[in-house]
Amino acid sequence: MRTTFLCDFDGTVAPSDIGAALVRRFTPGGAGRGRALLAGWRSGTVGHRELTEAESAMMRVTEAEALAFTRGFGLDPHFAGFAGDALERGDRVLIVSEGFEFYIRDQLDRAGLGALPLAANRARFEGDRLIPSFPHGDSSCGRCGNCKAQHVRSARAAGDHVVLVGDGLSDRCAAEIADTVLARDGLLAWCRERGIAAHPFVDFAGVAAFARHAAGAAGAAPGLRRHAYR
Ligand SMILES: [Mg+2]
Ligand SMILES: [Zn+2]
Repeated sequence: MRTTFLCDFDGTVAPSDIGAALVRRFTPGGAGRGRALLAGWRSGTVGHRELTEAESAMMRVTEAEALAFTRGFGLDPHFAGFAGDALERGDRVLIVSEGFEFYIRDQLDRAGLGALPLAANRARFEGDRLIPSFPHGDSSCGRCGNCKAQHVRSARAAGDHVVLVGDGLSDRCAAEIADTVLARDGLLAWCRERGIAAHPFVDFAGVAAFARHAAGAAGAAPGLRRHAYR
């Protein structure tokens, strides 16, 4: 059975939350209002789409300034190796993000991973205004801008075993229904609270080892792969 790895970007494929850093860097005097919004997002009263729209309205940044800033960050140094192994086994790797496509695509291109599929929100720049759009908006979830649960459902509809790799709030809708969850930080704590089985990971060296082990277990015992994963 083929596996689809749905990988969160900010805080996962990129160890830093680049999107959050971008908002902090380019929101003039907006720290107070930004904090209230973030508190609402963490407590569940504000959805991620609403958060992104409100944050974007407060930001003042040109596309060139944004890219110059995000290029100060990079990917987990083990991610390329993990992705290469997975593709060689015939598995799929898809980046799913509530961040913006422009800086994620730029980061992937610069790491030689420009061919990896990516589903994220979009940004259009008009001078120093950033205007967000949500091409992956999903009517079954009124909160997310790019609900990751839809990507779990479509990979499963293609017959794949779906592994979610993530760290945060934006991964919750997917974590609830993925076949396997690899989690760290807030997502790991939340899965434990909710009784959702989740394997902790530290970085993509660990994710790669987990994936190789699971693939080996599947090879040794066909039909038991799902069980082996859990
Ligand atoms: Mg994240
Ligand atoms: Zn959702």
